[in-house]
Amino acid sequence: MVDYSRESSLAINLVEIAAKITEWFKIKHSSSYIKKDDSPVTLADFASQILIISEIRKNFPNDQIIAEEESGDFFNPKIEELIKRCYKSNQVQFEGDLEEMLNYRGPSSNRQWTVDPIDGTKGFQEDLAYAIGIGFMIGFEPKICAIGVPNYKDMKLAIFAAEKNQGARVSFGDLAFTKLKVSSNEDIKKFRMCYSLHYNKPWVLEFANSIGISSYIRMDSMAKLCMIADGSAEIYVKPLNIQHSYTWDFLPGDLLVREAGGMITDLKGESIKYIDEKCIVSAPGLIASNGLMHNDLIQALQSSNVLENS
Ligand SMILES: [Mg+2]
Repeated sequence: MVDYSRESSLAINLVEIAAKITEWFKIKHSSSYIKKDDSPVTLADFASQILIISEIRKNFPNDQIIAEEESGDFFNPKIEELIKRCYKSNQVQFEGDLEEMLNYRGPSSNRQWTVDPIDGTKGFQEDLAYAIGIGFMIGFEPKICAIGVPNYKDMKLAIFAAEKNQGARVSFGDLAFTKLKVSSNEDIKKFRMCYSLHYNKPWVLEFANSIGISSYIRMDSMAKLCMIADGSAEIYVKPLNIQHSYTWDFLPGDLLVREAGGMITDLKGESIKYIDEKCIVSAPGLIASNGLMHNDLIQALQSSNVLENS
């Protein structure tokens, strides 16, 4: 069996350092810009992604990197100055050109890293949940992931990690990693459901009500998939724009949930496929669960008119 411990330790280290960087900017009230797709990007996204890419490049120079942010029209000397100040106060070593590193993607390779420097940027801006997600795949097969969630459930930084066929684990603050397992609750009416704070659609709650769910957790980012993985919730339903679904958004949480014993599929019950930066799904939404009633949930979705209305 191939050993991915080097990749895994790097990803875990990087989400930990990136979380220090993003938290530094949060305190300094990082300014933000609106991208072409109408979503926000902040200086913290840039600073986090530059650090992550530069370390992946240093450790695995022949690997390809699939990362969310690019400098676009936003980069300027003032931004560079602030990022350098952040690195200095967090003892991050960086030499080279910041903008070039932000846009670096490496050679084309079947070894591909995915980088989401801040998932849930709106949550980050509002001092709510957000995450930093790193994934690694070989030949489009997810192999490892690490997700950093600052202030997870109002605690310290939680770092979630998984390796294909090796299970999922979590570490809080400086504590050692412990194994993760999904909830064993089989009663759908008692399921706790996560849904998106900023990107939800009405059909999600209509469907949840129709199957008797009454307990809801509304939050941003892939931290919702962490909550499925650690048994804090049993179901998460996410509307998707099929054309604009990206690998960096879903690969880390997908692998984490599956390695914790749960299931994640699109609304038709198909697993998610990743081809370069694209996340391939056959229906406009994802459903993650503890796995025990997953097929029933898919069937209930199929027999409701949710898919037509979505
Ligand atoms: Mg992001």
